[in-house]
Amino acid sequence: GGTPPAVPPGRPRLTVLSGPSGVGKSTVVAHMRQAHPEIWLSVSATTRSPRPGERHGVQYFFVDDGEFDKLVANGELLEWAEFAGNRYGTPRNAVLERLAAGEPVLLEIDLQGARQVRESMPEAGLVFLAPPSWEELVRRLTGRGTEAPEVIERRLTAARTELAAESEFDHTLVNTSVEQVAAELLALTRTS
Ligand code: 5GP
Repeated sequence: GGTPPAVPPGRPRLTVLSGPSGVGKSTVVAHMRQAHPEIWLSVSATTRSPRPGERHGVQYFFVDDGEFDKLVANGELLEWAEFAGNRYGTPRNAVLERLAAGEPVLLEIDLQGARQVRESMPEAGLVFLAPPSWEELVRRLTGRGTEAPEVIERRLTAARTELAAESEFDHTLVNTSVEQVAAELLALTRTS
């Protein structure tokens, strides 16, 4: 029993970036990794279909329902969650291998996943990406206005709940400028 030893400052560790859908997580991560490809980003497994341009093993490992069931049953996922009708999960071994090799690891996952990592790896640094304002998130979620009003309404309701999760996180980054927030995220993956 007892308290686990504190993580020494500067030791490579696990950083989890999460936040409401539509806040711009993947844009920030892509920007950071362009300049710093040494920050390893976990590739998740998902049951959703590839979008045009997405490739197996790059953006995601695209699997069918049966394969995802097997990953879950065999304990191969560090965390997993259902999001908008599809399942997403983080392959456990690749993450543990990188951490054991002393490399910083970044996960970009939804809030349900972030909560699971908090439980299973309490030493992980949890970073919440927040919109500059509620109005800005509404603007992003509403997009070009091609979606049905009830779909937008459902997303906005979800976003309100998601914003309330901020207090569960170790750090909050406000997505005012991609450049600035990418620099802040880089600093956190190295030292937080
Ligand atoms: P998209 O379908 O737009 O690529 O991703 C939808 C949501 O799933 C995003 O919020 C993304 O961060 C999240 N996500 C991607 N991979 C994982 C994962 O492995 N686990 C969890 N819990 N969420 C994920």
